Amino acid sequence: MMNIGEMPLGELLQQSFKCHCGRVHETNLESVIIASGALTETAGIIKDNGWNNVFVIADTNTWEAAGKDLVDHLQSYGLNTTQQVFDDAHLVPDEHAIGRVLMRLHPEVDIIVGVGAGTINDMARFVSFRLKLPYIIVATAPSMDGYASSVAPLITNNLKTTYECHTPAAVIADLDIIAKAPQAMIAAGFGDILGKYTCLLDWKLSAIINDEYYCETVVSMMRAALEKTVSLKHGLASRDKEAVGKLMEALILAGVAMSYVGNSRPASGSEHHLAHFWEMHMLFEGRPPALHGAKVGIATGLVLEMYECLQEANIGQEFLLSAKPGVQPDWEEEIRRVFRQGSGEVLALEQQGGKNDLNAHKLRMEKVIARWDQIQEVLQQAPSAGQVRKLLEEVGGPTQPEQVELSPETVLDSIKYAKEIRARYTVLQLLWDLGLLQTYAKRIVGLE
Ligand SMILES: [Zn+2]
Ligand SMILES: [Zn+2]
Repeated sequence: MMNIGEMPLGELLQQSFKCHCGRVHETNLESVIIASGALTETAGIIKDNGWNNVFVIADTNTWEAAGKDLVDHLQSYGLNTTQQVFDDAHLVPDEHAIGRVLMRLHPEVDIIVGVGAGTINDMARFVSFRLKLPYIIVATAPSMDGYASSVAPLITNNLKTTYECHTPAAVIADLDIIAKAPQAMIAAGFGDILGKYTCLLDWKLSAIINDEYYCETVVSMMRAALEKTVSLKHGLASRDKEAVGKLMEALILAGVAMSYVGNSRPASGSEHHLAHFWEMHMLFEGRPPALHGAKVGIATGLVLEMYECLQEANIGQEFLLSAKPGVQPDWEEEIRRVFRQGSGEVLALEQQGGKNDLNAHKLRMEKVIARWDQIQEVLQQAPSAGQVRKLLEEVGGPTQPEQVELSPETVLDSIKYAKEIRARYTVLQLLWDLGLLQTYAKRIVGLE
């Protein structure tokens, strides 16, 4: 059995693994180049695949950072290029933006190259998938872990909607470019990685309580990447190229881990649900949604406070046997209030999944009672919120919701209702099961 936690990323992409968990793990991602000067390898990849007509998607910032040089490089190799460069102060990846890409795109195009980070990658991924074209992403910042994933979250009807698409043919991360990204974006990527502390614990909780599929190997692979990234905090604070490269590697690895298990468990838990909740809220208010990884970092601190409260409560069998779920008579009304135009989807999800159903609660509580020792072991593995916030601070990221202009009321709503966004068991649902979610939410936000 190979130890995939210690294998270089390049080797992971070439092989499939028969795992202890009973599954074969593999990824569709074929090529990742993280190196100084990687940009100049793009033409070679394109020519080797027999593609000739390149369509570049960028915005004015990423065009300056990498797009212009990329197009010069591609043209010097005899490739034809056309492009869409967005000049919006804040680009929203919605119907209008996708339409603008399509109106520029000629039918002879045979490869799309996105130059940017989250937003540009999502649009390049979506458009290329729908047109049955391959795409390459030239990364401009190590700011989030979506490079290697296969889904594209876009704004549809003013709501965030996730579309199933494909992985890029290649991810190109030129260290000379990404190490020059704004420090806030490097810190955001670091925040997205710190979120793995809580998402991996949430996954384990669900394995214990719902017997959900769980892969020890993938978890240790992600944990190794997390620890490695944390050890490089000083390098990240000073934009050391090697450290930034390792951060990028960890972010791409998160995407690989997701394709290994076929869902986002290894990279996304309650901290991401909170971040999604806040993003929706910011969209409703018509303001820029703040960097994804920055929100994840802040949310990780809050989730760890929830873990701490639960640990400090020193819960015993007597409490568990009489625990009542956090049922609210005005739940539906509250969902309509906080999710606004998105509430229909949230209500439908609950109708389907029934996670707040009393019978489902009873079945889960049987497991919680029987396996409380194992749950406590998970709680003990959580780092402190203070520890994670200190790490974020050291790399220059925000640590508190008010730094991204979230009010205590919104944060309170998010802790109470973020679990309704996905049919996925996390510590937030466990707290609801124990009847502690509302109390802890108020305590943490300071609105007791
Ligand atoms: Zn496995
Ligand atoms: Zn993320």
